[in-house]
Amino acid sequence: MQSYKTKTTYNHTSSGPGPSYTAKSRYEQTDQHQPKGPVRKTLTSDSTQNLWCRDTYWQYIVDSLGFNPFKETNGCHLRSCNHNAEDCRGAHTLESVKPLPHIVKFNKLDKAKFDWVKLYNCVKQTLTQDIPKVHSKEHLEYLGKLSSMNFIELIQLWRNMACYYNKLAKELPERKHVEGSINKHSSGFTFNDEVPKFRVSDGLEDTAWAFERLTRWCPTQIKFNKDIRENKKVTVWDLCLATGINCKEGIHTISEMICIDNFLTGKCTCLSVQDLEVKECQLQQELIELSTKLVEIVDKESKPVKASSSDDIDDEGLAEFAEMSEWTKPKSKRNDKKKQIDPKIQIRSEITRVEKQIEQLVNSRSIHYTELGMVPFNEQYTQFQERVSAELAEKAAAASSAPAESKESWDHGLIENAKIDKPVVKVSKLGNKKK
Ligand SMILES: [Zn+2]
Ligand SMILES: [Zn+2]
Ligand SMILES: [Zn+2]
Repeated sequence: MQSYKTKTTYNHTSSGPGPSYTAKSRYEQTDQHQPKGPVRKTLTSDSTQNLWCRDTYWQYIVDSLGFNPFKETNGCHLRSCNHNAEDCRGAHTLESVKPLPHIVKFNKLDKAKFDWVKLYNCVKQTLTQDIPKVHSKEHLEYLGKLSSMNFIELIQLWRNMACYYNKLAKELPERKHVEGSINKHSSGFTFNDEVPKFRVSDGLEDTAWAFERLTRWCPTQIKFNKDIRENKKVTVWDLCLATGINCKEGIHTISEMICIDNFLTGKCTCLSVQDLEVKECQLQQELIELSTKLVEIVDKESKPVKASSSDDIDDEGLAEFAEMSEWTKPKSKRNDKKKQIDPKIQIRSEITRVEKQIEQLVNSRSIHYTELGMVPFNEQYTQFQERVSAELAEKAAAASSAPAESKESWDHGLIENAKIDKPVVKVSKLGNKKK
């Protein structure tokens, strides 16, 4: 697909237990969220493991955190799944969480060639055309600011509207099923067909959902992360099983998120790939120095006992020998040293800290579409507007040079053939196409 400067690419979804210390870059952009391995269908159902198995996920969390953050309360038990990996409705490993079809489709999209302006226009169109159906003052206020919103704000508003009104529509009765009078719902609607659905036209509905979710965090995951940070106990019901791969509410790790500034303008304050590589190099250097120090101390401590078979001596043995050597020193020095913490333990905890930093660094970078060849959206949109203006100007010129009517219709939007005698197709119908 895309070609990169360096061979190794960093997979956004791989969050295996510790980083592998390669000198090659793993910060290069790739937006493939595909798990490895074959797609599995379970034997017990047609479910295709789009979610984790809850009884397995908590154990994965314990393993990756290195401690158990879970508490058991009424109805929240830490169970082991009694299905095997193939039969369970849920996935038993991160790799086997299978992306939903619309997400697979979006991941495969060539972000450099995709028509982002078209998506923007379609989303804006559905918001605009459904405004007359909205009663809520608060919602109307938001919808009144469409033209001052950037693409991300716009598509996030669309998502909120679509979620709200689709849920509302499900709560309302169908017109044909109701006989006699019926009370108006508190929302101001009576039947579900009155509710705006905010459908995105031109087959872009799925793309809009798949893209928008990359611009926000999953609230369940945010809450979970916060609880872990604050050393609060959680229950198995605090887990969002969808992972960042499939979660409709948003992403679960920063490396799954779109860098919004980069998407819009091509500029952002994130560390560049080079910055990250330099930083990682520094940390790797620190690791080497710490390890060398550790070896030196161990060597030093083992020196007084030259005769013994030092090859077989483990750390404990070394500590013991060091202890012995301490006693050969003058008394005053001996007592001071005794009070100090073992430097080996300190260095080992330093090593763990640096290793953690490297791991965080690897997962700290969001997705930069311009590095996949995408022209920043705002630039694309400016080009689009210029194109439209040029086309309209051309039309106007052609019309004015034509003998009879001169139509100066260019304030009225796009490149329509303005045949006013024919009844205009209601735009709202376009928006209601089924997925
Ligand atoms: Zn299971
Ligand atoms: Zn989630
Ligand atoms: Zn950025």
